[in-house]
Amino acid sequence: MTAQLNPRGDVAVLVPAAGAGVRLGPGAPKALRLLAGEPLLVHAVRRIAAAPSVHTIVVAAPAADVESVRAMLGAVAPVTVVPGGAERQASVAAALAAVPVGPEIVLVHDAARALTPPELVESVAAAVRDGHDAVIPVLPVVDTIKEVDAAERVLGTVDRSALRAVQTPQGFRRSVLVAAHRSAGDALTDDAGLVEKQGGAVTCVPGSELALKITRPFDLALAEHLLTTGA
Ligand code: C5P
Repeated sequence: MTAQLNPRGDVAVLVPAAGAGVRLGPGAPKALRLLAGEPLLVHAVRRIAAAPSVHTIVVAAPAADVESVRAMLGAVAPVTVVPGGAERQASVAAALAAVPVGPEIVLVHDAARALTPPELVESVAAAVRDGHDAVIPVLPVVDTIKEVDAAERVLGTVDRSALRAVQTPQGFRRSVLVAAHRSAGDALTDDAGLVEKQGGAVTCVPGSELALKITRPFDLALAEHLLTTGA
């Protein structure tokens, strides 16, 4: 059954899904790798579509796969599919340009975080609605972190209490994200980084263990297990 999005929702979610995913080993683009028999992108879009505030979903697909991704997601939720770019930032910019007039909150969510629960989409959107320009979900860092030099010699131990691991979806007031992308310089791996570079305030909300980024074969195995436990 195709999920219906909320025509009165105030949130657009951009899903950059155009990466090659070389760290997962050879094969299809990462977002199209199978997890329990379905592409990561299908898992991700299904969960986004289940968030009640979502009005629009725009996916940036590998240029060669736009038609097949459109057909694949047609049965999951109403989505707009655009060709992605060479860098993640270009894929996000392409998706942002396709957001219709209406939603004033824009979330950017990596397809690779395929098990992200709808509740996290809602809590990030709610923080933007409450007045924050840019919002990121984060987890505390559990490992001891060392700074090293090029020869792998330890230079020092970083105070991990001041560190956070950052997830997606990252949420923005629409005008803030548009302005950040318009004046973006070097490609960054996250959108909040663009806002930071321009001196904008970025606020943290609690992330979710389920929003893990499926990057290496180990993550895929962990995600398969989490699905069997009801994720
Ligand atoms: O490569 P990385 O792990 O940083 O990719 C994060 C997300 O950005 C993935 O969902 C990937 O598909 C997407 N991406 C993209 N266009 C690119 C590179 C990555 O949409 N050119």
